Formats: sequence, structure tokens, C-alpha cells
Amino acid sequence: MILDKFSLKDKVAVVTGANTGLGQGISVALAQAGAKVCGAARRSCEDTAKKIEDFGGEFKEIIADLSDRKSVDILLSEALEAYGRVDILVNNAGMILREDSVNVSDEYWYKVIELNQNTVFFLCREFGKHFISQGGGKIINIASMLSFQGGIRVASYCASKSAVAGLTKALANEWAKYNINVNAIAPGYMATNNTSQLRSDEDRSEAIIERIPAGRWGTPEDIAGAAVFLSSEASSYINGFTLAVDGGWLAR
Ligand code: NAP
Repeated sequence: MILDKFSLKDKVAVVTGANTGLGQGISVALAQAGAKVCGAARRSCEDTAKKIEDFGGEFKEIIADLSDRKSVDILLSEALEAYGRVDILVNNAGMILREDSVNVSDEYWYKVIELNQNTVFFLCREFGKHFISQGGGKIINIASMLSFQGGIRVASYCASKSAVAGLTKALANEWAKYNINVNAIAPGYMATNNTSQLRSDEDRSEAIIERIPAGRWGTPEDIAGAAVFLSSEASSYINGFTLAVDGGWLAR
């Protein structure tokens, strides 16, 4: 039956940036759909663990700084040690730095590119090897409106998120034959720490809401359905697609 294809029962998911915001929303949603979730971040994920354990779900925290290359191997090995397999990787951890491009230092540029782009590729590569040997898997990369648009004062973020959309297509082409679906979700303007600076600027926040056909900021719950769908068997013939969850922002 069709709803059974959305179930993640007996699946194991690794979600990066799982202690707050969209990563927390995705972790809770995958767990509600039946997956055991390993959530990674530099700080504790206890809030996410509690939300999941409250309804009887399973969550394992992995403390790791994903700007450090060694963390890539740690994520896979700890998830395998905990649950014996991994079926789903959600590359959600990311950062944004807002600055006029003429003032962006080399250090700031590399910091954003390292986490948002390089780590995403290295995680895809290592989990991809595992998925090939296992006979399949699902990868969801978190992209952005700035995978499609230029934004304002966010050159490094825009470059990295455009790379995420391209990488998603490139890997999907290579790995579809191994029963691996690589797709992306492009959230619109969501109320999380990532956008607190924008939301605290009343004029800017109002201008953004005015441009969103749905007339409001999105929430972590808003991307839950897309995350479960792209993690599940229901999406097995979807490859290399970046799905916007944006209240209509791109349609405008
Ligand atoms: P957020 O609230 O700032 O959360 C970022 C998450 O990433 C946190 O869990 C953070 O945990 C983790 N993280 C950051 N640096 C890390 C590192 N070096 N190693 C490990 N974990 C790290 O942001 P969000 O809004 O939920 O964003 C999640 C994703 O969605 C990002 O990729 C973002 O670019 C994307 N996105 C957001 C929006 C939006 O409107 N909010 C729109 C489009 C795309 P720790 O700090 O504890 O490490």
C-alpha cells in the first residue's frame, strides 16, 4: 500500500546539525516515520534526543566538528557501531556569514566553503561507498534559495549552496544505478538561528514576508514531509532533484 512506502521502519539515518533548527525538525520527522537517528553537531543534541525519546523513538548523539576532516569517518563508524547499518544521510549542517564581498577575508570564505561544500562532498563520498556495498541508500543535501539566486552580502554561502545543487545532480547521475537516490531540499526563509539576524531587522523581515506567497516564515516542521519522502521508498525514482520548500518564494 502506498503509505507503507513512506515508512522508515528499520532504517537508520544520520543527520548533521541535529541539535536545533531544520536538522532537529528533520531528525524528529525521520524518527516519527520509524527510523533510528544518529544526530551530529558540535554541541549536545539532548533537546532533539528528548523530543524523539518522548514518543519512543531512538536517537544517538555524535559530537563532531564537521569542519574537521576526521569527523567524516567518525560519523559513519559511530553510526555503524550503534546500529549496524546506515540507510539515509542528511547533510544539513551549514553556516552563513553576511558581509559585503569586498570585506570577506580568505579565512571567512574558506570556513563557509569547508563546512557547506567540502564536508558535504566528503560525507557523500564515504557514505556513498557504504551504500554501494550495501545495495542502496538515500542522500539528502540541504541546499537553499541561494542554490538558485544570488542573495545579498552572502557570496560564500551562495557559492557553496549552488555547489550543493550541482553536486547533488553529479552524484545522482553516478549512483542511481546502485539504487542510491541523491536529492536536495532547498528551504526558503525559515525561522531558525541561521536567519535570526535577518528576522531581527524589522524592515528586512517585513520585505521578505511580503515576497513569500504563503505570507510567513517557514518552520522546521515545514520541511518534515519532504525529508521523509526523499528518505523513503516512495521517492525511489527521483534522482538529482532539488525540491524547494519555500512557501512559493521561487514561483514569484
Ligand atoms: P542553524 O539553526 O544555524 O543550525 C545549524 C546546525 O548546524 C546546528 O545544529 C549546528 O550545531 C550545526 N553546525 C554548524 N557548524 C557545524 C560544524 N562545524 N560541525 C557540526 N555541526 C555544525 O541553521 P538552520 O537554519 O537549521 O540550517 C540548517 C541548514 O539549512 C543549513 O545548511 C542552512 O544553510 C540551510 N538553510 C537554512 C535556511 C533558513 O532559512 N534557516 C534556508 C535555506 C537553507 P552546532 O553549532 O552545535 O555545531
